[in-house]
Amino acid sequence: MLKEAIKTSIFDLFKIGPGPSSSHTIGPMKAAYDFLQRANLMTDLTDNQQVMIHLYGSLSATGKGHGTDRAVIAGLLGWLPETCDPNEFTTLLKNEDDIYLIKIQEKQISIHAKNIVFEKGRYDSPHPNTLVFKLLSDHKIILEEEYYSVGGGFIQRKGENLQAQNDKTPTFEFSTMKEFKEHLLKNKMTLTDLMIANEMSLTGLSRRAIYQKIDDVLEAMNKAVKRGLRHKGILPGTIKLRRKAPILYNQAKSLASASDSFMIFLNAYCMAASEENAAGSIVVTAPTSGASGVIPGIFFLLRNHYHYDKQKLREGMLAAAAVGFLIKHNASISGAEMGCMGEIGSASAMAAAMLSYCAGKSIETVEAAAEIAIEHHLGMTCDPIGGYVQIPCIERNAMGAIKAYNAYLLASSGNTAHQKISLDSVIKVMRATGKDMSKKYKETSQAGLALSATEC
Ligand code: SF4
Repeated sequence: MLKEAIKTSIFDLFKIGPGPSSSHTIGPMKAAYDFLQRANLMTDLTDNQQVMIHLYGSLSATGKGHGTDRAVIAGLLGWLPETCDPNEFTTLLKNEDDIYLIKIQEKQISIHAKNIVFEKGRYDSPHPNTLVFKLLSDHKIILEEEYYSVGGGFIQRKGENLQAQNDKTPTFEFSTMKEFKEHLLKNKMTLTDLMIANEMSLTGLSRRAIYQKIDDVLEAMNKAVKRGLRHKGILPGTIKLRRKAPILYNQAKSLASASDSFMIFLNAYCMAASEENAAGSIVVTAPTSGASGVIPGIFFLLRNHYHYDKQKLREGMLAAAAVGFLIKHNASISGAEMGCMGEIGSASAMAAAMLSYCAGKSIETVEAAAEIAIEHHLGMTCDPIGGYVQIPCIERNAMGAIKAYNAYLLASSGNTAHQKISLDSVIKVMRATGKDMSKKYKETSQAGLALSATEC
């Protein structure tokens, strides 16, 4: 094996937390929380302390619309994405002059919007989503940490290898689809068995506990879709975008016998979860918050229209996770690194794998479906208007799901031996395309749709 084996847990990929962005909300909250823990280990604290946070790159360009400043305050208050109250979270920094008291070693430090600097200048950093935290005592820096929010809510501290943070070894080491399939063939095992065995070895959880956690993730997805189908009105932010999911849902129900009602239902489900994300409500990163409508929409369809049972849906999630791991490991799931193909493209590929596996298709068909889905998202830019995860993001979730469904249909028809491009190859192409893409199109809101809409 040439590359280091994948050591990501399923539950690092599918994380429950508040929207609207895994890289700009969940990641920064986790970074701030980590900094708080490290600050608590300091010994030479005086009474005159201050915390400064500097945001760079895409976090600076679109952090306001994505709630990065709120997320940083939340993390410094000791909140974590999976347990924080989304209502309390959205009230943070409602007023620019709100002051919060954070506690470091029983000493209270006041923090407000001015402690968070949206840096405009260039900064020498290996990742476009960079945060620098400083703890000052008597105006002297006594602790400084640099973090990278690398997509999907994953963070990396400067000098640390994300993979090395887990010293466990997966039972079946793989870093490519080719190696994954070799294990299946050699050990005469299913995708489910391989994924469960690896999760057990990486997390120490039992098979039963893993299934319980997948059920929790699915329930969070179910709730997000249901809430979004109910909630009407205007989404937060300056765009004043009206929610559309309840309208689509009612339209689909009234057209239940028409041939296109199926697509309208799917659009409604995906947009429901995505609109909840835009509202800062609780969603599941799948693999990111921006793309948190695609897989939940497909899941909701499979459960309520296809009536797939719990076990089938769990296994579908394992297939989705396998594809997500491969993309994350060999390209990236971050919009700031890959453009939107990294978020919606990845989610679409994962959903295509889920659809195929749930339908009982072979591993070759699962691979082909994922490959086709990525292929038709290559080069897709990330240019959210005003930095809000709303336009084009919400509709893109619906489009990503529709493409996933078609990728599954295309992969299922005919012989997969005709498939000329492998999943591993298209992921390489994705990586190369993402590298070549101008920085302007990677979650900066400085070009593309974001710019033309500003002109309007
Ligand atoms: S355009 Fe795509 S990648 Fe960019 S914020 Fe929206 S969903 Fe995420």
